[in-house]
Amino acid sequence: MARSFDIIVAGAGPVGQIAALSLARTGKSVALAGPATPADRRTTALMRPSLEVLETLGIGRFSDDIAAPLNSMRIIDGTRRLLRSAPVTFYASEIGEQEFGLNITNAALAGLLANAVAATPAIARFEQLVSEWQAGDLARLARLDNGETLSACLVVAADGRNSLARAAAGIAASFHAYPQSALVLNFRHSRPHGFVSTEFHTETGPFTVVPLPGRRSSLVWVVRPDQAGQLAGLDDAALSARIEDRMQSILGSVEIEPGRQIFPLSAMSTSTLATNRTALIGEAAHVVPPIGAQGMNLGIRDVSELTRVIDSYDGDPGVEPVLADYRAARRADVLARSSAIDLLNRSLLSDLLPAQFARSAGLAVLSAAAPLRAFVMREGLLPGSGWASLGSTAREKVRRQKP
Ligand SMILES: Cc1cc2nc3c(=O)[nH]c(=O)nc-3n(C[C@H](O)[C@H](O)[C@H](O)COP(=O)(O)OP(=O)(O)OC[C@H]3O[C@@H](n4cnc5c(N)ncnc54)[C@H](O)[C@@H]3O)c2cc1C
Repeated sequence: MARSFDIIVAGAGPVGQIAALSLARTGKSVALAGPATPADRRTTALMRPSLEVLETLGIGRFSDDIAAPLNSMRIIDGTRRLLRSAPVTFYASEIGEQEFGLNITNAALAGLLANAVAATPAIARFEQLVSEWQAGDLARLARLDNGETLSACLVVAADGRNSLARAAAGIAASFHAYPQSALVLNFRHSRPHGFVSTEFHTETGPFTVVPLPGRRSSLVWVVRPDQAGQLAGLDDAALSARIEDRMQSILGSVEIEPGRQIFPLSAMSTSTLATNRTALIGEAAHVVPPIGAQGMNLGIRDVSELTRVIDSYDGDPGVEPVLADYRAARRADVLARSSAIDLLNRSLLSDLLPAQFARSAGLAVLSAAAPLRAFVMREGLLPGSGWASLGSTAREKVRRQKP
């Protein structure tokens, strides 16, 4: 006999746990199914709107030893191409913020989320994988690895890029593999980072350094897959020297920490974001390359919108009008972010002059035009907030012109 819930969240990665916490606040009964997140040495840059969501869920205190603020973001053209652009720096203070967000260690975030889930009685936690999905009358059934069966009106698929819940709902996914891999590690450095995140644009992809507490930073170095293998095969001293050289020594001498990881770059999009009593969130809904710190921020916005839509309906959360509202709320943001990241990445890889011209001209305009920079920064934090700010500036100007 199946245990019955309003909602099953499949997948207990970061986005699944955030979804369970958020949906439990709507008063619905929530089951969260999936194994605990394994330890991970990566870090995640979460922007202020994402941090505000976590704060409302009671996960707002990131101590100084697990998270570092991102006060400025700098883009440096590190290519050796004909057309190169001047560095561009975005200061959070330009849009009246102290910081864009925080760079948090994944291990610490996972621990905080797991504790919050365990402390929420409205979430029933099942640590097993879902091995099979079935469609029932007005519900979907999940068979767990241990033979137990759960049923719910709505399935929230947070089970990652190879989502079983997505396939069971008949939603098609299309994958694209890039000819790139990211070498990911953390390192110590002799000069302070000043809480500035730096993205060097190179011919193989971005080389991104993000502050960690103290004189430490995390690195995502996008190169060709064979180069990633060669770099990862270097000894600590040689790899540290290569990193310092690539960064033009802006952080002084470099000493890498143990724990190198390689991630092949890929993207994934789906035929729809919700149907058949199933809503997709996080990497079950969209995969973007780790460029510009977008992935989990997008996933948290999925959770916010799904919670808002479910909260606005009485009764069955899996009916078509709920799913249609969720699709409408998320389609534009997901499409815009995925396309922007893809375009930036392709413009770096392309040897074609028009692509190089477009990229360097875009950076030059951003460097020179403060209002445009402010617009881009606001839109980067939260879709629509750049436009909203333009609207309020225009209204303010009209008010000032009136006698
Ligand atoms: C190098 C790198 C750096 C990144 N940096 C950033 C950053 O700075 N900022 C940012 O916003 N994003 C960043 N991202 C993206 C971010 O890591 C992802 O968006 C995020 O981890 C996705 O979380 P998720 O919970 O959707 O998926 P996952 O973390 O993949 O979790 C899926 C979960 O589902 C579970 N599961 C799978 N199958 C089943 C099943 N059948 N039943 C039950 N459970 C199942 C898995 O065990 C797993 O726990 C980065 C990504 C990479 C690779």
